[in-house]
Amino acid sequence: MKRVVVVGAGLAGLTVGSKLVSSGLKPLVVEREPHVGGQCRSLQYGEYTFDVGKHCFDHSQDEVAEFVLSHCGQTMVGVPRKKVGCYFRGAYREELGVGRLRYLPVSVLVRGLWDLVWSRTSADRRSLRGAVEACYGRTFYDTLVRQRIERVLGVPCDQVHVDVGTLLWLIPPKEQLSRAALLGKALRRLRNVRAPRTDGGPPKAFEAFYPSPRGFGDFCEALAQAVMAGGGTVQTVASIESLQVRQGRVTGVVINGRLEEVDEVVWTGELHPLLKQLGLTDEPPPPSVNLILFNFEMAGSPTHDYFWVEYADPDPLIYRASVSTLHRPANAPAGHYGITAEVACRSHEPIWNDPASYVEAVQEALVRTDFVPDRGSFGPCHIERIPRVWLILDVDYQERLERSLAHLAREASNVHLTNPAGGGFQTIGHIVRRALEVSRRIAELPPRSPELVGSMG
Ligand SMILES: Cc1cc2nc3c(=O)[nH]c(=O)nc-3n(C[C@H](O)[C@H](O)[C@H](O)COP(=O)(O)OP(=O)(O)OC[C@H]3O[C@@H](n4cnc5c(N)ncnc54)[C@H](O)[C@@H]3O)c2cc1C
Repeated sequence: MKRVVVVGAGLAGLTVGSKLVSSGLKPLVVEREPHVGGQCRSLQYGEYTFDVGKHCFDHSQDEVAEFVLSHCGQTMVGVPRKKVGCYFRGAYREELGVGRLRYLPVSVLVRGLWDLVWSRTSADRRSLRGAVEACYGRTFYDTLVRQRIERVLGVPCDQVHVDVGTLLWLIPPKEQLSRAALLGKALRRLRNVRAPRTDGGPPKAFEAFYPSPRGFGDFCEALAQAVMAGGGTVQTVASIESLQVRQGRVTGVVINGRLEEVDEVVWTGELHPLLKQLGLTDEPPPPSVNLILFNFEMAGSPTHDYFWVEYADPDPLIYRASVSTLHRPANAPAGHYGITAEVACRSHEPIWNDPASYVEAVQEALVRTDFVPDRGSFGPCHIERIPRVWLILDVDYQERLERSLAHLAREASNVHLTNPAGGGFQTIGHIVRRALEVSRRIAELPPRSPELVGSMG
């Protein structure tokens, strides 16, 4: 039987593990933290439960939906689009992306539409600024994109690759970045008319769905249980000390001082530490943005019915805020609810090193933006620091990534990656889709012949 080690028990690692056991394999899933779930887990403080981030699976990814439903059964609830909003130009809006055009002053709108047709960019098209200016024109780049991204990343948009904006959902995917498409979309949105569905089906009631009542943490726990019930192993507090490589393949992994022989390795963490352990890079890790979650216990009931809101105005400290009880009232005791305020920052910033001294500033931002009526409803705050959520990909990152992947394929051809960008933000729908592909690829690989393994060992 193929011996598979899966590094990381986040959503990707657990998806791979549970699919491999259903193909008859017995993978070993190793996790350095004491808990499974990675970025997709639930946090429990007494009677309050918060998810790490407000996760929704995209409905349109059928294979993903099927997989999730097979583990969550009938407990999924739909998330209406209107429950997701943004704080833009001093008020909460239900329109995201291009829809925000409706709230711009007429003078800006006219200038923007003029630019959309006539302006050309002089910036590098691989950069976020160049790609967005080429498609939206200069005015919409300035009013809708630049400030938001620079506030979150702390780096000018000229210096980051366009993929960063796409991954952060701040701009449409590259294939949709065409002026004609955007102009059409903008005009439709301005008239508040949605594009008709092309498949003739009923209008979409929901854009996404959420596993309730158990939430995402329990979803990952359920996947871990499935791995173990199928004969696999999930080992926490397990660190990968070294990887043994022979003839272009990883043949052994040393975990907590013990050697595990392997035929295939699935790596769900960042690419850089893997390259480092294999001696394939001397470069420093790519810079990244961290998130701090301020999880507040709240008295009363929320004033908004938004699942989460993104703060698009340059002023508030917060990047996103969400209400933990909207899909699962049991996430807080009766008469109470929970709010998560997410703050994006870099490791050298004072807030990352001493977040507790910013609790009042976060409360003040929530009150100032009317997410919370007054200071009186705040209870205790629980702070979680999530490092390296987004990588700051520079304009040359793709060439470097391709070189690294080619190097990896030559030196360690049996290592499979679940994050195609080598780390950083991917939506959970994409993570699960990719993990399903990797599991299929491994399950279909022919078993390695004993003679071949012997000659290599
Ligand atoms: C605050 C927040 C909000 C989010 N909101 C959304 C959302 O609304 N919608 C959405 O689609 N996505 C969202 N995401 C993104 C989504 O949660 C992640 O992309 C997804 O959970 C990543 O899963 P993963 O398994 O690839 O990585 P991770 O969750 O990072 O898991 C990787 C695991 O591998 C372990 N690991 C790494 N290296 C090693 C090693 N050498 N040895 C042992 N273990 C190792 C790590 O400890 C970790 O547990 C959000 C993320 C965050 C942080």
